[in-house]
Amino acid sequence: MKRDAKCIFCKIVAEEIPAAVVLADESLVAFLDIGPLAEGHLLIVPREHCERLTDMSAEMLASVVGKLPKLGRSLLAVSGADGFNLLVNQGKVAGQEVPHVHLHLIPRKAGDGLGYRWHPGSYRDDRARQLTEAYRTALAKDA
Ligand code: 5GP
Ligand code: ZN
Repeated sequence: MKRDAKCIFCKIVAEEIPAAVVLADESLVAFLDIGPLAEGHLLIVPREHCERLTDMSAEMLASVVGKLPKLGRSLLAVSGADGFNLLVNQGKVAGQEVPHVHLHLIPRKAGDGLGYRWHPGSYRDDRARQLTEAYRTALAKDA
């Protein structure tokens, strides 16, 4: 299994540095984020070192995502939250600081002040059709 000797999450996976681990199985480790956005904020990482979501195999991702319902239920029960956000930051521009894929599971409560600046735009003229074509072409090339 691939690992990076300098990676902080690989060190947590290998139990070389401590973390508040809530679940560990053959494919993932889930632990408390050291800088929580809300109490109970979890990080879920694949055991294997992989920098970006887009580098992961479908099998590797499936084994991580497959645990989300169970982890989500435990998060709701433990944190008393009414819901949660599932977040992946890919790339520095998106806020990725640790170059080992991780899923944030962030408890949400009414009025907690968390959330995105979410200002929806709209497509003019033919732009939505052009983008759809571009997506279909890119997806067909990546088959
Ligand atoms: P990113 O910005 O890369 O999406 O998120 C990295 C997250 O990892 C941050 O929320 C940060 O608080 C958390 N983090 C960084 N180093 C450690 C660590 O050594 N232990 C734990 N438990 N969390 C960490
Ligand atoms: Zn790593």
